[in-house]
Formats: sequence, C-alpha cells, structure tokens
Amino acid sequence: PTDLDAAWALRWALLAQEAVSRHRIELMELDQAIGDGDHGENMDRGFTAVGARLEESAPPATPSEVLRFVATTLMSTVGGAAGPLYGTAFLRGAAACLPGEGQTRHALGGAEVATVLEAGLAGIVARGKAAPGEKTMVDAWAPAVRAARAAADAGATPADVLAAAAEAAETGAQDTEPMIATKGRASYLGPRSAGHRDPGAVSSALLLRAAADAAVR
Ligand code: ADP
Ligand code: MG
Ligand code: MG
Repeated sequence: PTDLDAAWALRWALLAQEAVSRHRIELMELDQAIGDGDHGENMDRGFTAVGARLEESAPPATPSEVLRFVATTLMSTVGGAAGPLYGTAFLRGAAACLPGEGQTRHALGGAEVATVLEAGLAGIVARGKAAPGEKTMVDAWAPAVRAARAAADAGATPADVLAAAAEAAETGAQDTEPMIATKGRASYLGPRSAGHRDPGAVSSALLLRAAADAAVR
C-alpha cells in the first residue's frame, strides 16, 4: 500500500510545477550570478508545459509512462543545458521502472525508487560528463542517490527513501556555494563562480523534495 504508483508520479509532476513556479525568481537570480539568468524561466516553462499537457490528455497509467511523459515534455520545452540533462534523467528513470521487455511496474518499492534515482543520475552523467565537485546538478543528485540507496538498504518505506534523497539533495545544493565551476556556463567565470549556489543543483533539490512530498499522503 505504501508503494508508489502512477498517481504518485502525477502528484510529483504537479508538485514540481508548483515548486519551480514558486522558486522561479530565486533560480533566475542564482543563474544571473554565475550563468545567463534563464534557469528559472527555462524550468518554469518546462513544468508549466508538463501541467498543461497533462490536463489535455488522458493521464499516463504507470510510473514509467508518467516519467517518460515528463522527460519528452522537458526535452522539447526547457532548452539550455538543463533541458537535455533533466530530459535524460527522467527518460532513464522511466526505463528503470521496466523490469524486462514487455513488462512494467505499477508500483515501486523502496529499493526500486532508489534504482530510479540512480538511473536518473546516470543519465545526467552520461549527458553532461560532470563529476561531483564541479558545481553542477550532479552535486545534488549524487548525495541524494547515495542517501536513497542507504535508506532502501535499511528497509525504509518508499516515502522515507525519497525523504532521505530530498534532504541530501538540499544539503548537496547548499554545499555547491564555495565550489568553483568547471562544467557548464558557470565555468567561464572560473574562481569568480565561488560564493553562489549552483542553480541546477538548487532546482534538482526542489524536484526531489517534490517527489518526497508527493509520497506523503
Ligand atoms: P544554460 O546554462 O544553457 O543557460 P540552464 O541555465 O537552464 O542552462 O541550466 C544551468 C544548469 O545546468 C547549471 O546550473 C548546472 O547545474 C547544469 N549543468 C550545466 N552543465 C552541466 C553538465 N555538464 N553536467 C551537469 N549539469 C550541468
Ligand atoms: Mg542559464
Ligand atoms: Mg541559457
């Protein structure tokens, strides 16, 4: 009963839309400091499209289909560096919900949720080739995935796996502040990129917090 189904994934998408919209200015200001200032707008455009397209059509019926829907919508609307990175993360996450050819899971347990997050991070790394410490969204995702797997291994519920991931992502995003960017647009600033949190790490923490909140009913 605590396993996470399509309704959870749909709540995640809508809570993500709300969170990104609420934090649009903050994300914009973070990206103004070390990038080109469009991250808030890019993310808000993407998740607004997710919400609008979900209203237009019959809702996807499995977690995998919801994540795939989010992925393709973000890929076609977010743009910039973040669009393909988040698109790949959600696409890999969608694939990780499928245990085998022609099979799908209608609900995810704790270990499966950790696997979905691991797949998301692997997608981001495959796309962007960033390692931890380069002041990117990887610095939110890597600790989140570690915390999720540790919680799952300890027998946590899916909601608690996601709560552990969200908390680690928030700490990870905070920890990007002193880092010097060596990937993405912020790397053009060199040492002057230190002293500001990375916008993509902050938006990643928002998305993972939304996933956790969606699991609490
Ligand atoms: P752009 O930089 O093209 O304007 P956004 O502002 O939407 O795109 O997104 C910037 C964010 O993308 C950064 O804050 C960082 O977290 C993330 N990012 C950029 N390059 C990479 C990369 N190679 N790997 C992982 N994340 C990256
Ligand atoms: Mg930008
Ligand atoms: Mg840009």
